[in-house]
Amino acid sequence: MSTKATCACGAGKKVDPKTCSVSQVRKCHGDVEKHPCGTKAQTPAKNEWTTHPAKYEALLKRMASVAKKNGYVLNPDKARVEKVLGLMAENLVETGKPYCPCKQSEPIDLKKDVRCPCPTWKQEIAKDGHCFCRLFYRVRAAGKAGRSGARKG
Ligand code: SF4
Repeated sequence: MSTKATCACGAGKKVDPKTCSVSQVRKCHGDVEKHPCGTKAQTPAKNEWTTHPAKYEALLKRMASVAKKNGYVLNPDKARVEKVLGLMAENLVETGKPYCPCKQSEPIDLKKDVRCPCPTWKQEIAKDGHCFCRLFYRVRAAGKAGRSGARKG
């Protein structure tokens, strides 16, 4: 008898890992409409900016770790983080790399556009308290951002 586990695709369904492995989830990039285990999109995507919730979650963990290692924090405005990393997740699926959604060309220029964290992020944080996208913050600036509420855009 196999143990059921919650599928990492974001649909929140308990599945048999034998028929719905993480590798299968990777193949469908978390897109539950195409999920091989037969899971239908029963719950809305966690993030309205991406159809790849598993990629978004992975980016969120990765960027939180990047922030911590460098003495920064992610923007306390959750909606802003969801937008930046949700769009970055789309770029990641499209190109295999986390291209910055705020600085990218349309369509993405694989040679000229920058990947996150970009070469100028530290200068931007030193000057403004946050990077251009407002994803990474200096700790004190993040406190202010949290108190003054979300800036959209
Ligand atoms: S501006 Fe911020 S989110 Fe965009 S690539 Fe640079 S560090 Fe990453």
